[in-house]
Amino acid sequence: MTRLSGKTALVTGAARGIGRAISAAFVREGARVLLTDIRDDEGAAAASALGPLAQYVTLDVRNEAAWERVTGAFVAAHGALDILVNNAGITGFESSMASHDPEHIALDDMRAVLETNLYGVVLGCRTALKTMRAHRPRGAGGSIINISSRSGVVGIPRASSYAVSKAAVRNHTKSVALYAAEEGIAVRCNSVHPAAILTPMWEAMLGPKDGPEYAARVAAIVGDVPLKRFGTVDEVAALSVHLASDESAYTTGAEFTLDGGLLAGTAASPKRAS
Ligand code: NDP
Repeated sequence: MTRLSGKTALVTGAARGIGRAISAAFVREGARVLLTDIRDDEGAAAASALGPLAQYVTLDVRNEAAWERVTGAFVAAHGALDILVNNAGITGFESSMASHDPEHIALDDMRAVLETNLYGVVLGCRTALKTMRAHRPRGAGGSIINISSRSGVVGIPRASSYAVSKAAVRNHTKSVALYAAEEGIAVRCNSVHPAAILTPMWEAMLGPKDGPEYAARVAAIVGDVPLKRFGTVDEVAALSVHLASDESAYTTGAEFTLDGGLLAGTAASPKRAS
């Protein structure tokens, strides 16, 4: 397993869920990976389980100075940053279930989502571009992978902060890709648009696994997915390995859905012809 051999990667929001699985897949493919998050205990445990190619450092993606410090130290130790995965994200419903619908949205609630989901990605891209200009990535060039969402492509009436943040990430990805190409900075930038991937992010909505409503809630969600199941974190990690590796050297400014077919059609299926 050497598709990322000799490369270095920084993954945000890597303590659990999709970020942890991406980090594990990168290590399996031979990359040296810096896991970062704000959940320090879980992040350190995740890195130590991955062995000597992985390490953990705290990084709140909202913190400009921390981006400079963490990336600077990593590059000083390992020569270059080849891969950045901007994965950290929040729904906005972590501490309150107040609706984020366009009629009632509180600007402070929207700002909080944008701080992490959009400005965190903007800071990550900025740091990576500067770093990769100064220290040319190895192989065919560097790769920035922005984890957006299906929600960045369609409207989500009661989660409009999340949807607008992910839509902005989708668009910023293309600006980064074109800017890097124009400037001759050896980095590609692509966005990934998952939907319904079973991670801790869903816990609040599904309740405890042994709870009375868990099965019914899962069935309601997967009922809308053409493939009739949740996606797995390993499926997102597999696509990320491809985008991180030199296999995708001609791919930039592109978007990849990973949603069991949700975006292929409309939510309301036409009735079967009888
Ligand atoms: P999780 O909540 O399981 O993991 C996200 C991690 O990011 C958590 O450890 C979280 O910490 C951390 N985090 C939150 N805010 C910050 C911050 N400011 N700085 C650094 N780390 C932070 O989420 P998922 O693995 O499900 O999601 C990962 C990404 O994939 C997100 O961007 C999400 O929007 C996106 N996505 C997920 C989908 C899904 O179905 N799971 C579908 C579409 C997109 P804490 O828990 O303390 O907030």
